[in-house]
Amino acid sequence: MSVEQAPVQRADFDQVMVPNYSPAAFIPVRGEGSRVWDQSGRELIDFAGGIAVNALGHCHPALVKALTEQANILWHVSNVFTNEPALRLAHKLVDATFAERAFFCNSGAESNEAAFKLARRVAHDRFGPEKHEIIATVNSFHGRTLFTVSVGGQPKYSDGFGPKITGISHVPYNDLEALKAQISDKTCAVVIEPIQGESGVVPADKAYLEGARKLCDEYNALLIFDEVQTGVGRTGSLYAYQHYGVTPDILTSAKSLGGGFPIGAMLTTTDLAKHLAVGTHGTTYGGNPLACAVACAVLDVVNTPETLAGIKAKHERFKSRLEKIGQQSGLFTQVRGVGLLIGCVLSDAWKGKAKDILNAAEKEGVMVLQAGPDVVRFAPSLVVEDADIDEGLARFERAVAKLTQG
Ligand SMILES: *Cc1c(COP(=O)(O)O)cnc(C)c1O
Repeated sequence: MSVEQAPVQRADFDQVMVPNYSPAAFIPVRGEGSRVWDQSGRELIDFAGGIAVNALGHCHPALVKALTEQANILWHVSNVFTNEPALRLAHKLVDATFAERAFFCNSGAESNEAAFKLARRVAHDRFGPEKHEIIATVNSFHGRTLFTVSVGGQPKYSDGFGPKITGISHVPYNDLEALKAQISDKTCAVVIEPIQGESGVVPADKAYLEGARKLCDEYNALLIFDEVQTGVGRTGSLYAYQHYGVTPDILTSAKSLGGGFPIGAMLTTTDLAKHLAVGTHGTTYGGNPLACAVACAVLDVVNTPETLAGIKAKHERFKSRLEKIGQQSGLFTQVRGVGLLIGCVLSDAWKGKAKDILNAAEKEGVMVLQAGPDVVRFAPSLVVEDADIDEGLARFERAVAKLTQG
């Protein structure tokens, strides 16, 4: 029997995989739009979106076309050469944002790694080695490399791996006074998620981001927005910085950028980009033609007035029904978030039980996410059909009813 025909089951995970994940009991095998089927043929509605990745749902025809066309042309050449899809993607991103330059990599963590290295390099070149401190926020998430867990504000992800990267401090999110107290001439960068995703879907206050921008300018520090989760239409604007009207110096993007194909990008200005001169940074796969061809197709669909307006309309559809479910069941105290990144904050009685709610939802045939133990998160396809929203939320409501009525 060939390898691809060998039957595999969830139990195999525990035998052959490193146990750093605890995947669901079922294995998804096929997806189309906002529907997924498991090995037994059971159909589920997907409001998890691969953790804010499947921006156009599963197997969107425009993405399948871009990927298969590129697969028949050229897969990989390395950065010893440039390639057409990478240049096209860079043009699209530069045209659509504040940025003048793009660096491509393969994940959110790598895009942040590049951003942090660039910020330190700029400060080193312009001001000397003293100016290397990075200010991040408590509970922030920036990826799982050693640098990005060190910058991230959740010690549970950085403890126990030996010495951390130093020169990093953490201040409470949405607290401008705390940032003001911490920032100094030694600060090279302030990094903020415009909406804290992993730690509970917490949107920044506009005044906080405006204040951070001002402080960074005062102290010659760079403002980095980690838009790995909020980028590529998630908020109803192409990037959340546009929603807030506050422009960073460096922006990182991944997740939805590839719609399910791995890619990351760091965007910045020409003036800053020049500090990453030839040989200072790199990645073998970054800017891979397959990834860039798919990302171009993602942007072509997402960055249109119709899609972006649709995201805002779908937000309302989710929010009003979720608020009703929350009130009737006593499960949520608040439904927050922007666009199609929505968090339902659990009431005191349900605090810590987000995972139980995920499991109950899955039993009713709808996939949702958690964002920490106290928030149920929705990050569906940006083009999820209204009929799928209604059916998925009906299933979710049944799951909640079963849970709350015992
Ligand atoms: C998911 C995420 C990352 C990490 O992205 P990976 O692709 O998993 O490396 C970084 N920052 C934010 C805000 C994220 O949501």
